[in-house]
Amino acid sequence: MKSSLKITVIYALSGILWILLSDKLLLWIIRDKNLAEMSYIQTLKGIFYVTFTALLLFFLVISYHRKLNEKIRSLEQLNLKLSQSNSELEQYAYIASHDLQEPLRVTSSLLQRLKLKYGNQLEEQAHRYIDLSIENTSRMRKFVKDLLEFSKVGSTPEAPVEVALEELLLEIRQDLDKRISESKAHIVLNGTPQVVAERIQLKQILSNLLSNALKYATPGQAPQVTIHASENAAEWQISVQDNGMGIAPTYHQRIFELFQRLHAAPEYGGTGIGLAIARKITDKWGGRIWLESDAGKGSVFYFTIPKNRS
Ligand code: ADP
Repeated sequence: MKSSLKITVIYALSGILWILLSDKLLLWIIRDKNLAEMSYIQTLKGIFYVTFTALLLFFLVISYHRKLNEKIRSLEQLNLKLSQSNSELEQYAYIASHDLQEPLRVTSSLLQRLKLKYGNQLEEQAHRYIDLSIENTSRMRKFVKDLLEFSKVGSTPEAPVEVALEELLLEIRQDLDKRISESKAHIVLNGTPQVVAERIQLKQILSNLLSNALKYATPGQAPQVTIHASENAAEWQISVQDNGMGIAPTYHQRIFELFQRLHAAPEYGGTGIGLAIARKITDKWGGRIWLESDAGKGSVFYFTIPKNRS
């Protein structure tokens, strides 16, 4: 039975039952003939009233349902259009960044050959121009490579698995080995937590947060990084705390956007994509990523992994 009809029938039956039973109970207590006649008229009136309001309720619920269904249908269509245009955009970014790689690689190697083969015939100024062109081409290649990385997030389906954070961190430390020993960084994991997540994506988030904690360290101070994991019934929460330069609250939203950088000086090499990737992954999971920080006071980046994904 449709829910609208069910509501109306329940309302009508319980109303009529109440009128009949309450009257019968009253007459059984009082036992008066005149009152009995009056009560029959009252009962009929009551039944008519309940039936009439039940019908009214029925039409109201039906029209409400119809409007609601129309809204749901138009929202579903909008959702479909949005996800179609979203995946088209992702595909476009993927193709553009993929196809740009080759011409950039060729340009860079041609410039190097030009320098090698005709270097002795060129003036110093020409050498400088070539070096600048090579440098810019390699920066462009790094951008394109990272953009490709960004557009690829989630394109290869990955099943969530049990991940021991201690093991994952060991792998990340090996990848960042040179930077860790150069900066004399001290990295600590609180406890030995296990989470269930897409391993490669989780590694990508933690690597980005960890390498940022090393990169944006307070000058002259060894980085101290603490990773902490906790859980509740709905999600795991992981935090990465550093004693670095910190970020003023006005920039807390901006840094998660594509290509947004606060430290553009060449010694802080980067493309402004690491945190955008981290946010894209947590969005896909249905989780969140945010930070607590202030300039000169270090940063704590938090992200969550929902336990039940829809
Ligand atoms: P990238 O490091 O390549 O510039 P990210 O997206 O990882 O790109 O970070 C965006 C910006 O946020 C960085 O340029 C930097 O200014 C700031 N940032 C990120 N992590 C930290 C941190 N731990 N401490 C201070 N600033 C940070």
